Amino acid sequence: MLSFLTPKLPSVRILPVSRSLSSRASAILRPLDIPLSGEIAGAYDGSWKGSGDILESVCPSTGEIIARIRTASPSELHETLDKTRDAYKHLRALPAPRRGEILRQIRESIASKREALGALVSLEMGKIRTEGVGEVQEFVDICDSAVGLSRMMNGRVVNSERPGHSILEVPNPLGVVGVISAFNFPVAVYGWNFALSFAAGNATLWKPSPTTPLCAIAVTKLIARVLEANDVPGAAASLVVGGSDIGEAIVQASEVDLVSFTGSEKVGREVGRAVQSRFGKTILELGGNNAAVVMPDADLSLAVPAIGFGAIGTAGQRCTSTRRLYVHRSISDKVLRALSGLYSAISPGDPLESTTLLGPLHSKTAVNTYVTALTSLRASGAEILSGGDDLEPLPAPLATGNYVKPVIAIPRTHDPLKEPWNKELFVPILNVAIFDHLEDAINWNNAVPQGLSSSLWTRDIRNVGKWIGPSGSDAGIVNVNVGTSGAEIGAAFGGNKVHKCLSQSTGWGRESGGDAWKQYVRWSACTINFSDNAPLAQGVNFSI
Ligand code: NAD
Repeated sequence: MLSFLTPKLPSVRILPVSRSLSSRASAILRPLDIPLSGEIAGAYDGSWKGSGDILESVCPSTGEIIARIRTASPSELHETLDKTRDAYKHLRALPAPRRGEILRQIRESIASKREALGALVSLEMGKIRTEGVGEVQEFVDICDSAVGLSRMMNGRVVNSERPGHSILEVPNPLGVVGVISAFNFPVAVYGWNFALSFAAGNATLWKPSPTTPLCAIAVTKLIARVLEANDVPGAAASLVVGGSDIGEAIVQASEVDLVSFTGSEKVGREVGRAVQSRFGKTILELGGNNAAVVMPDADLSLAVPAIGFGAIGTAGQRCTSTRRLYVHRSISDKVLRALSGLYSAISPGDPLESTTLLGPLHSKTAVNTYVTALTSLRASGAEILSGGDDLEPLPAPLATGNYVKPVIAIPRTHDPLKEPWNKELFVPILNVAIFDHLEDAINWNNAVPQGLSSSLWTRDIRNVGKWIGPSGSDAGIVNVNVGTSGAEIGAAFGGNKVHKCLSQSTGWGRESGGDAWKQYVRWSACTINFSDNAPLAQGVNFSI
């Protein structure tokens, strides 16, 4: 029984039907076919609808309300789940290469709006425009990859021990894939899931973050047009904009075979338990608390800018952001001087301007998290090397945005089991500790509960061997002379952990590249007897 589906009294406020948008926002929404006034339908399953509560999309750079979106009502969600299930039955009957051809057209459609969608990501999420465009490019890249995969999602022929028998392992479409995504990658994470899921023959139901609904609506509109042109039901790419209640309903719905969840550790824990309790499948992509380790022989002309991008990029709001920096004692002064210089050259500004390198935090809540963390660092005696002082007010319309200064801090303790080291705070604060031996840095890197990304800076092949080997970094992403943040779609993305921690707080999900597609199918083991006899396996005798 879905608790969400129990009708409740509407909590909708009376809102004006028209709104006056800034030219800044309307210039971005118009080319993406997003209405500039009135309420916008936030649910799609072949037709657009929404008669549930209203969500407001707020621009983090200015505080402007850029849209009001109607979420799906309980009965609409129910209907969408049914239609998505039906769309799966349609898709699974199409040959995989035909699905690949439709994906190729979707790729073209997304690519044709690369700049416009990138600007929308910047407007609604707050990351700088080049990162917004890069995120759309990830969607394009994963479509390319999935088009190829649509001709290569091969099963296997296994040798049978019985004469005249063959065993096939057949990858069949799984069903409905529910994608619940986070605010910080409002386009790419859906792309990673949608492209593989579609190529594998599944219908997808997307619940985006309630704070980035417009990105989801714009992407779904582009996909819907391609599906329509190919006579594929629109519910092959369904959308339900909404909050945690809609997320919970999707997690509990028996119509959803696989829940691919990207978000915080806290919610991921609830999602994992709920899906497991009905024996559904999950992909969990949760928080990161990523470290960069700098050895004495590192090329600092590469390391310092990469650490700067890792810590400051996306205002510290990537799951792969660099949050911990471990520097060898012999070069610590040099590294920290160079890094402080880089920080002092960067000030926050409008993420839509091409010269801006640091945009706002996504929400006022995140600003509070930043202020609380800084206060606590100070109270515990940490040395603040950069940032932390008051920000000069920005000119209108940015004066009401969520801007903060990035911080470099040296906490008094380097104990990775204690705060501030053991938690993911989604803000641009980089904590630094000094080490004497690579083994210490590796231990500190591994001792936290999260295990998403990590990076070693060295030119010594012996250090590389230690770092990527069995006693090295236990994260899912183990980079060398490459920062923690910014992955390519070719490699499977997700967390690992081997250290004796209380939990593995990143989840064990794998998305995008590698063998990730194998999670979006159900494997049928088919033993076929071509002979005139019916022997039992292992020589078991059951003659009657
Ligand atoms: P969040 O956990 O608050 O929300 C994520 C999604 O879950 C949203 O769509 C939200 O509406 C939904 N949700 C909330 N409660 C729910 C419930 N009870 N049941 C089902 N769904 C529910 O995360 P966020 O603040 O949007 O994103 C930031 C977090 O996401 C960070 O921890 C970051 O590290 C993580 N993240 C991880 C990856 C990765 O690949 N590992 C990528 C991006 C972001």
